[in-house]
Amino acid sequence: MASTAAFLGHGSPMNALEHNRYTQSWASFGDAQPKPQAVLSISAHWYINQVAVTAMQNPRTIYDFGGFPQELFQYEYPVAGSPEVAQRVADLLPQHTIVMDQSQWGIDHGTWSVLCHVFPQADVPVVQLSINANLSPQQHVEIGRLLAPLLDADIMVIGSGNIVHNLGIIDWGAHGKGAVWAEEFDAEARRILTGKNPSDIISLLDHPNARKAVPTAEHFLPVAYIAGLAQARGKSLEVLVGGCELGSLSMTSYVLS
Ligand code: ZN
Repeated sequence: MASTAAFLGHGSPMNALEHNRYTQSWASFGDAQPKPQAVLSISAHWYINQVAVTAMQNPRTIYDFGGFPQELFQYEYPVAGSPEVAQRVADLLPQHTIVMDQSQWGIDHGTWSVLCHVFPQADVPVVQLSINANLSPQQHVEIGRLLAPLLDADIMVIGSGNIVHNLGIIDWGAHGKGAVWAEEFDAEARRILTGKNPSDIISLLDHPNARKAVPTAEHFLPVAYIAGLAQARGKSLEVLVGGCELGSLSMTSYVLS
């Protein structure tokens, strides 16, 4: 059975504990299809200087944030890993030196804050793939393209980030909306990702608003993997849920159509 892919706009880690229209869309995405054998997650929060996969049997829940309620630090997403899936991912990327991680990483909040809604029982094994900060945008798309056979092996691929992510200029009063520049950037991403060539998404890094929308690359790059994968399937992405929040954050999520 073939699985599917999605880019999920994760936003605040508090979304793990909340129920809102974004978390509801993640839950409905999980409900809409049979459970896959495993999930491969490409999270903004594992942005390092190498290509690595979590290869341990029991990955730990990682609390890679500060300044949130204690409740969030006690949250556990006790999911299994999958050394077999980790090896399969490595086999698909022979031109990269892949670190088979046993102890450095685990399941970070980019992954668990969305998957706890997609698969609330934590009963689908999860492997994370790092984002190598040394690669070009095109190389991230290319890795996504090479991951497409995972879908045929019933492995779901998710990217977790935010198309617009600028915490430095958050407007705490702007509930349910983005600044004009953020909404423009998000709309342009939507136009590309739902069009014929989703992997053109990396051209957005040259958009006039990119300096504000993508001040650092890590939250943007997960979508490059999902766009590359969609391109490999000859498909577009479709919007799962759209919206900007707090002026400078896009929560828009996409699924493979
Ligand atoms: Zn994040």
